[in-house]
Amino acid sequence: MGSDMGSRLKRIINKIRTLFYPPVCPLCEEVLKGGKTRICDRCRPKITYLTEPTCLKCGKEIDDIEKEYCDDCKVKPKSFVKGFPAMRYREPIKRSIVNFKYHNKSTFADCYALEIVKTHGKDIIEAAPEVLIPVPVHKSKLEKRGYNQAEVLAKSLGAYLNIPVDNTVLKRTVNTTPQKLLDNEERQKNLERAFISDKKQVQYKRIMLVDDIYTTGSTIEACTKVLKAAGVKEVYFTSICIGKD
Ligand SMILES: [Zn+2]
Ligand SMILES: [Zn+2]
Repeated sequence: MGSDMGSRLKRIINKIRTLFYPPVCPLCEEVLKGGKTRICDRCRPKITYLTEPTCLKCGKEIDDIEKEYCDDCKVKPKSFVKGFPAMRYREPIKRSIVNFKYHNKSTFADCYALEIVKTHGKDIIEAAPEVLIPVPVHKSKLEKRGYNQAEVLAKSLGAYLNIPVDNTVLKRTVNTTPQKLLDNEERQKNLERAFISDKKQVQYKRIMLVDDIYTTGSTIEACTKVLKAAGVKEVYFTSICIGKD
């Protein structure tokens, strides 16, 4: 079977799964009563939301109330306007996101989108992005997994907040040089080369990037730079989690 065929088949299987399988809690995977999409009552106390003080730029928790920015944003200033992450990147969410990403659990997207709506729905509406743009994955990864988790998440979120999703703007190419061979500065440049805008000029002025996890921000920053170079004025981001690893 060709890889294109394989990826199409995986997508169809995922669609069917979504149609026939009742929604489950993304953490314990128990079927939810009443067919509601959410994290179940037993798992809810196990997840940790972000508490103030948080970085004015990326939204990551910081330990010093006197500080405005986290160490990552201070060392490497960011060109996006602001980030709206929903939760801490800790267990049991960590494991759940691995399943969401690599093990065909694309149906978790709805629960996670709801967590973003609960924590930052108002902020996102206020930021007023014209579209949500999922951070793209390379075609070979897409073929292996059958879906891009960021795109599935963006679609759920867009449906809740009534914001369109555009997955045609950003594309991911292959990194020509392996990241591990490079120093920090070169890594960022290399990552920027990995994202391309399909159109030389993007028609949007204000957009919001969507990804599952935000760590140091190098991916979001690389996407921001590409979009700004193509004419976008303001870039925001939202993610399920934010954390150090
Ligand atoms: Zn649960
Ligand atoms: Zn920050």
